[in-house]
Amino acid sequence: MEWVVPTFDFQPPRVSQTLVRAAHNVMYFSGAGALFARARAPAGAMILMYHGIVDSDDARWIDPRFSVSISTFEAQMKFLRRHRHVISMTELVDTIDRKKTVRPGTVVITFDDGYKNTLDTAAPILKRCDLPAIVYLATGYVSREKGQFIDVLFSAFRGRTRYALDLPDQGIDASSNLRDSEVARRIYLDIAHRLMVSSFEDRERLLGEVVEQLEPLDRARAPRLTLTWEEVHHLQRIHPRFEIGVHTRNHVDLTSSSPEAVSNEISGSVEDLRRELGTTPLHFSFPFGRSNDRARTAAMEAKLRSAAVTEPASLASSGADVFGLSRLSAPDTMSLFPFYTSGAYPDLSLKLLGRA
Ligand SMILES: [Zn+2]
Repeated sequence: MEWVVPTFDFQPPRVSQTLVRAAHNVMYFSGAGALFARARAPAGAMILMYHGIVDSDDARWIDPRFSVSISTFEAQMKFLRRHRHVISMTELVDTIDRKKTVRPGTVVITFDDGYKNTLDTAAPILKRCDLPAIVYLATGYVSREKGQFIDVLFSAFRGRTRYALDLPDQGIDASSNLRDSEVARRIYLDIAHRLMVSSFEDRERLLGEVVEQLEPLDRARAPRLTLTWEEVHHLQRIHPRFEIGVHTRNHVDLTSSSPEAVSNEISGSVEDLRRELGTTPLHFSFPFGRSNDRARTAAMEAKLRSAAVTEPASLASSGADVFGLSRLSAPDTMSLFPFYTSGAYPDLSLKLLGRA
């Protein structure tokens, strides 16, 4: 299916990012990456993080920063199948716990949140390629069958029919003109950040207010983007190598939550999975990759075996902290994918550019 880039561009790449990408291209196509990977043979796994795997319909409703097109995903998985050693999260954690070497070129595939397209589009491709993966569910969203707040916000801004927002208690007044896409982008990112760090109840209230005021045109046509528990069962049936982990109940930022909320969010998600699937989850990922000592301790107390964060990406090798496994947000392109999964990244980039 054709990949349509949404017209509302929220995050144009920064110039420095573009230059770093260009430098990565040089490293890869000059053969330096491959030479480095062979000569140094860096041991360790690159853990890839995906959210939505989307066709052009889903792309209308999901923040493009968190999605990869089906065709790119399929090309990436075929590449991994032929050229990399893909293992499950449990195999990786077993290897690290036993202090064995994680062989060079190892990759682990992870999905966050629990998008319906994890079942509809990603799972069949992974099954065809016979690759293991894990999805970390925000269990409250699965139980409520509600979409992630960021996508509700994205769709409200994309489809807006009103061009001012009046949210005095957020310091946003009606003078901002949302016809200007740069202003809209700035306010969108500002509200997204507020929603990220607020409690679940405050988030629902603010999000409801924003949607109400923007009156998005196609609101009634929004598809269900989140898996149901029945679909999670189905996912396990069609692809038993898909592990199911947890990602809190309400997808809140644990670093800005109270101690009670932190342990309730983590242990609650473990309970939800046990009740719905009859199995005990082993793996966790921190919402937004944000963690602190309290959150890590709560994950350990919930008897989880590992917890993943996000960038800066690094290779998970023997001796890695299994409660702080870093991941690379998978790019929606094939061009640098071989380099990013070669083992040469991020070491070679850090060495030559001083950054990943
Ligand atoms: Zn998430």
